[in-house]
Amino acid sequence: MKHLHASEVWLVTGTQELYGPGPLKTVASNSRAVAAGLSAAGAPYPVRFKALFTSSEGIRAVCQEANQDPSCAGLVLWMHTFSPSRMWIAGLSSLRKPFAHLHTQFNRDLPWPEIDMDFMNLNQAAHGDREAGFLHARLRLPRKVIVGHWKDPEVHYRLFAWMRVARGWQDLQGARIARFGDNMRRVGVTEGDKVAAEARFGYAVDGFGVGDLASEVRAVGEPAVRRLCAEYAERYQVAKELRRGGRRHASLREAARIELGLRTFLEGGGFKGFTTTFEDLHGLRQLPGIAVQRLMADGYGFGAEGDWKTCALLRLMKVIGHGLPGGTSFMEDYTYHLDPSGSLVLGAHMLEICESIAAGTPSLEVHPLGIGHREDPVRLVFDARPGPALNASMIDLGTRFRLIVNEVDVVAPPEPLPRLPVARAVWKCRPDFKTACGAWIRAGGAHHTGFSYAVTTEHLRDFAEISGVELVAIDAGTRLTEFEKELRWNEAYYHLAAGPRA
Ligand code: MN
Repeated sequence: MKHLHASEVWLVTGTQELYGPGPLKTVASNSRAVAAGLSAAGAPYPVRFKALFTSSEGIRAVCQEANQDPSCAGLVLWMHTFSPSRMWIAGLSSLRKPFAHLHTQFNRDLPWPEIDMDFMNLNQAAHGDREAGFLHARLRLPRKVIVGHWKDPEVHYRLFAWMRVARGWQDLQGARIARFGDNMRRVGVTEGDKVAAEARFGYAVDGFGVGDLASEVRAVGEPAVRRLCAEYAERYQVAKELRRGGRRHASLREAARIELGLRTFLEGGGFKGFTTTFEDLHGLRQLPGIAVQRLMADGYGFGAEGDWKTCALLRLMKVIGHGLPGGTSFMEDYTYHLDPSGSLVLGAHMLEICESIAAGTPSLEVHPLGIGHREDPVRLVFDARPGPALNASMIDLGTRFRLIVNEVDVVAPPEPLPRLPVARAVWKCRPDFKTACGAWIRAGGAHHTGFSYAVTTEHLRDFAEISGVELVAIDAGTRLTEFEKELRWNEAYYHLAAGPRA
């Protein structure tokens, strides 16, 4: 994964001086065991026990330290014993990192015959975490509440999901996105307020003339082009005409040159994502196809037609899903199979679908492309693998952002698609085609999405909580009339909650 920095979360245990030094030693050693136990249970990166906190000064100091430390993705708060919550006001009010409230208890079972007041004093989260929860609610703080014993697999699942999102959030802060050219002309949904996006999500979108990219492409040396063509030959099923000695090998070499130039540009600027547009290709001989597909596979965000919001969302989804099975790609709802016994969506793009979602070895081909007015672009062609997945779309409603999610089930195409020269995914929408598309269109969801087998609705809910944006999910339980009401209520809620900062 390109430009992904090391992360940790800090387990911050709340207590107070009332208990004396002996019990506090036990509380600290229990906390160490919880942090080590969580780290060992499959956490995506370490959970580090930070310290016990018994005073406003200490809590404020650890929150400021978390704000300053670039490796700290967030805090996990746990009130092992009772911790009067006014001590937390100053610290949590100044905290700029996400936190999760882990409502757990060191001992799973009560030792019924032996239980005494010492045991009661050392296992007090039942009321200590309620005092904390009151303050979080009173201060209207965004957070995730996770309930259960710290060895419970469901607790691990929910906490580790949040940790992935906290790392994704950390990754977006200060992230740079390169935008070659502007938006596809007259398109609405791919537009938006880049100032609002930077203030809300922390990433910056900067425009570049495609000529800057073209000069990087021209500067690529012959040996590098040869090496990359050899890598293509090893990794993909390369069409005969594109192979060395083939009639169209020059097209393959040009595609490799574009990939190498794009890589140099993105690495040189420390970018985490990029957009292109077929309406601005001056100096490029092909619309970038395989280049974009392979850069996405390396973890770069991407948006076609200048779509910087989907680009940033895709980078976020790539970071969230990093290390999980299943790929993540840029996607577009392209065409429908409206069979009343089971309608399907065929998702694809002109070229730019990430090979991380491929069912088998992609085939590397060259075909004409009617738009862009350049030479035929080289692209990877494949079917996406069957399995549960989701599509997510971030739109700008003018006064706020809305994230729309639809859970889907990818199926094998009912028949082969020998004449379709692009990578594609075929899916069934949850709960059904009409409800899902009706809800998506009512909500204003875009044709471009971030598509993933690895990222779940829970991840995106955690992201919406951290970033303070609206999320509407279309899943197996969605009913259109209720969904439409949710949209109306959300209009009022987000208007009130945002106040003059909208
Ligand atoms: Mn498109």
